Amino acid sequence: MRIAVIGAGITGLAAGYGAAKAGADVVVHEAADRPGGRILTSELGGQPVDEGPDAFLARVPWAVDLCRELGLGRYLVSPAQRAAFVYSRGELRPVPQPNLMGVPLDLDALAASGIVSPAGADRARREPGLGGSPLAGDDSVGELVRRSLGDEVADRLVDPLIGGINASCIDDLSIRAAVPQLAVAAGRGPSLVRELRTLAEAPSDEPSAPVFYTLTGGLGRLVDVLADRLGDRLHLSSPVDDLGDLNADRVIVTAPASAASALVAPFSLAAADRLGAIDYASVVLVSLEYEAADIQHPMAGSGYLVPAVEGRTITACSWASSKWGHLGSSDTGSSDTVVMRVSIGRHGDERPLTMSDRALLDAVREDLAFTMGIDASPRAVRISRWERSLPQFRPGHLDVVADIERALARDAPWLQAVGAWARGLGIPACVRQGRQAARAAAESR
Ligand SMILES: Cc1cc2nc3c(=O)[nH]c(=O)nc-3n(C[C@H](O)[C@H](O)[C@H](O)COP(=O)(O)OP(=O)(O)OC[C@H]3O[C@@H](n4cnc5c(N)ncnc54)[C@H](O)[C@@H]3O)c2cc1C
Repeated sequence: MRIAVIGAGITGLAAGYGAAKAGADVVVHEAADRPGGRILTSELGGQPVDEGPDAFLARVPWAVDLCRELGLGRYLVSPAQRAAFVYSRGELRPVPQPNLMGVPLDLDALAASGIVSPAGADRARREPGLGGSPLAGDDSVGELVRRSLGDEVADRLVDPLIGGINASCIDDLSIRAAVPQLAVAAGRGPSLVRELRTLAEAPSDEPSAPVFYTLTGGLGRLVDVLADRLGDRLHLSSPVDDLGDLNADRVIVTAPASAASALVAPFSLAAADRLGAIDYASVVLVSLEYEAADIQHPMAGSGYLVPAVEGRTITACSWASSKWGHLGSSDTGSSDTVVMRVSIGRHGDERPLTMSDRALLDAVREDLAFTMGIDASPRAVRISRWERSLPQFRPGHLDVVADIERALARDAPWLQAVGAWARGLGIPACVRQGRQAARAAAESR
């Protein structure tokens, strides 16, 4: 079976690796001169720091299993600090625990956090008696949370967290595609908080198991090992314009939706139309390295989120060297370095992408001074622009994906299209999709 994979982001690398393992004759074509797509690790102040994703979910198996299978198990580390903060109503305040993706499960802890006003906390407390209707169809995350817990919880807690991960506003985000756990809870009864608590209290095998992992040395390590396993089956600087030119029995397209749309158009107009309508958001990640002595603000946590309603430029600041014990610590275990990764940008606002480095850095420094009182100059700065990098999952997204899959199965059964835009943009979901596509291609006749 000759299989061609288009794109060597994590989806394409996982597909290529899976196809090779299944004994197929595989070639992975990547347009860029490096593999990894959105995953990129480079040096900042002399140590490897991720420019894009820096962690993946540990409580779903696909990425962890792949790392272990590739012999990377000894490099897996979980965050040294779990506490997260929100800049709300004039200061950094701890995200109330427990919560599920920002939805508070203890309304006393919500009130005590001060993230919402006393009136906002009272509104949330009325939720369990609200008697709202269970989820019908695919609402937006915003619709559900606003109806259940009110606008303040939606704007100051859930939007920064769930909206932040997707660089979108929760009012435009599909519950079923973006936060399936919320969809499950909302489908069970009228009180979201009560149902989420029941789900959270369900016995788990390892309640203290890590929620996230990264790899020491950065996630680029995963890309490097996959590229190494593929060897000369990975063709870099090899953009594909016409799938008809490929000498392959099966083709797996893992390019972003707009590129995938152009590639499948000659073979399935219906699939191409649906793919072409999937929108993306652009983000900028500014990484900064400071002298530890220059930062007075306590950094016991993984970082903080900044709600859009606060009107700042930055949307989040990860305290990377606190979150990841291996970053910034010297041989003696002491640390003279602080590394932060600051996120900017969300769907519908392309301005950050067009701002100069100087303007971006000025805006970041102004917001760090405002939120953390940092006046010092960073020792090193790195600006990573990620244009049209985060697919937007609108309500009804999973129906769109099912339509694309049906159209391809009917019009071009030798062709699959998968990736971040389809069934989950997190690294584990991309690995799962790549490996499933490889298995389906290798086993087909
Ligand atoms: C700033 C940022 C932070 C993130 N943080 C996290 C995180 O912490 N945890 C997490 O789990 N996820 C995170 N994500 C999401 C995750 O990184 C991505 O969804 C995932 O890496 C996408 O992988 P992919 O292979 O589907 O697509 P991509 O990485 O986009 O790869 C697609 C590849 O296809 C290639 N290509 C396109 N057209 C062609 C063509 N015609 N011929 C050949 N090649 C082509 C492209 O060059 C690219 O390399 C983050 C994303 C961003 C942007």
